[in-house]
Amino acid sequence: MNAVPSPRVLSAPLVVEFPFTRSLGPVQSAFLSGLRDRTVLGVQASDGRVVVPPTEYDPVTSEEIRDLVEVGQEGTVTTWSWNGSPRRGQPLRHPFAWVLVRLDGADTALLHALDAPEGPDSVSTGMRVRIRWAADRAGTITDIACFEPAGDSFEPAGEREPATLPEPHTGEFADPVTGIVAPARLDYTYTPGRAQSRYLDALATHRTLGERCPRCHKVYVPPRGACPTCGVPTGEQVEVGPRGTVTTFCVVNIKARGVDIDVPYVYAHIALDGAGLALHGRIAGIPYDQVRMGLRVEPVWAESGRYPDHYRPTGEPDADYETYKELL
Ligand SMILES: [Zn+2]
Repeated sequence: MNAVPSPRVLSAPLVVEFPFTRSLGPVQSAFLSGLRDRTVLGVQASDGRVVVPPTEYDPVTSEEIRDLVEVGQEGTVTTWSWNGSPRRGQPLRHPFAWVLVRLDGADTALLHALDAPEGPDSVSTGMRVRIRWAADRAGTITDIACFEPAGDSFEPAGEREPATLPEPHTGEFADPVTGIVAPARLDYTYTPGRAQSRYLDALATHRTLGERCPRCHKVYVPPRGACPTCGVPTGEQVEVGPRGTVTTFCVVNIKARGVDIDVPYVYAHIALDGAGLALHGRIAGIPYDQVRMGLRVEPVWAESGRYPDHYRPTGEPDADYETYKELL
């Protein structure tokens, strides 16, 4: 067995961000328009239960449901969890409780933040809470800034709320909210592990290292440290490339935020010579509409020299389909 030197441990901060614009159907539009106007709407399901936040389809029968009702702005905590160190983008900057709140008139609970300045000892299941509205409201769930304690009262187990709620509601609002921008963002520290650290260190010297499975002999690039098919470690280092073959590709016509590349451009699966599967990379140095399966390419290194910025044609004849058909 090869003695594999242990590389230094790499880690790097990574951000994955995909903001997207979402159109709202009639039920979500009414719910968010309601929040903007300090009104909380739910929907009545076929079994009579009031669902808050409302769904467009019955949770039991899957039928469309449209019977909107207004529920109360106070409710009961059904369960909770203390958040001692709030992160970026969370509703409050200081420690708070995540709570599930069953608003008066509702049968299901809404997830939100509870501002509990007296700490976790002041929070309990069954405590009564009320909505604190945001000063500026635009038709999003954060129009509810948070919940706050509503005095010392507790709801005795099993007791129903006053019969005046819920109240039927038309769901009609002036200037209804029809869409939202929903930002999704993950901040995390990525540690690639030993196999990928070796791969990244080799890339910095313009070499591409794969690892061969001792059982099925497939060469993984980039390596993951194990063969997912055989379930065994892949200890043997194999240098592949630098040239390779385009196995399949797509033309990108949508410009991504923060990416300084003119569209259209081609993103391709590239099987480096000697690799048992394709990796992906951008193809340049050829008009986008002349890229084809079988095109022979080579890496063009980024200015930092640490990774290929893109791949360009080598000028060799195209590879025969038989040579890469298993790598598609
Ligand atoms: Zn294997």
